[in-house]
Amino acid sequence: MRKKIVAGNWKMNNDLNSSVALISEIKNLLASKSLNAEVIICPPFTSLDAANSLIKDTQIKLGAQNMYYEKSGAFTGEISPLMLKSVGCQYVILGHSERRTIFGESNQLINKKIKAAVENQLNPIFCIGETLEERESGVTFKIIETQMREGLEGLTAEELANLIIAYEPVWAIGTGKTATPEQAEEVHAFIRKLIGELYSTEFAEKLIIQYGGSVKPENAAELMSQPDIDGALVGGACLKADSFVKIIESAQ
Ligand code: PGA
Repeated sequence: MRKKIVAGNWKMNNDLNSSVALISEIKNLLASKSLNAEVIICPPFTSLDAANSLIKDTQIKLGAQNMYYEKSGAFTGEISPLMLKSVGCQYVILGHSERRTIFGESNQLINKKIKAAVENQLNPIFCIGETLEERESGVTFKIIETQMREGLEGLTAEELANLIIAYEPVWAIGTGKTATPEQAEEVHAFIRKLIGELYSTEFAEKLIIQYGGSVKPENAAELMSQPDIDGALVGGACLKADSFVKIIESAQ
């Protein structure tokens, strides 16, 4: 049985004060609950250090939303894996569709970032997903396969032991349009099968594949009850403590 992992992608929301307030609320709501899911929060860089102090001795783990692949140097505006580790991050979201579309990140750049993450013992949450146009023209599986092959190129199963893949159909992100559980499951099963072919069925069986795209308390349980959906990457709904906690509690 794979465990479920629910991660909150805060995106560019919450300054330091409001981050502290939101984490405190989440902490209070989760306190003394026995959970079926692992919980990760991914606040903006400027709140990571404070978040790290606040989540000590809780069930909550910390992730960042992006990073650069070099250790240090003349890369103005960038953040390195070592910097993320120094503020307690165990996870990093890589290849989010907003990074791909707004900031032009290619599969090749994302591949370098995944390599740098695993070299520094940061667990990547590797996001993949098709646009509406791609879905409507019938190339969803082709797009997913290319993102996976190029994003994971040169990485071994040992290096990827703590990899999480997040399937996030771009047309479902922030739009209120969720993939149906059947639509999501179909792609999740495809991802697991491809990982089986690229690595081994043993590795594929262990891999955590999250769904992301308008996950809410109302649809989380049904999505996460699908055989190949092992949790959720939550955007909008993770900015309200009660919604985020309800989603976490939907994991069985
Ligand atoms: P959403 O975002 O839940 O607001 O659709 C998900 C994501 O982009 O990770």
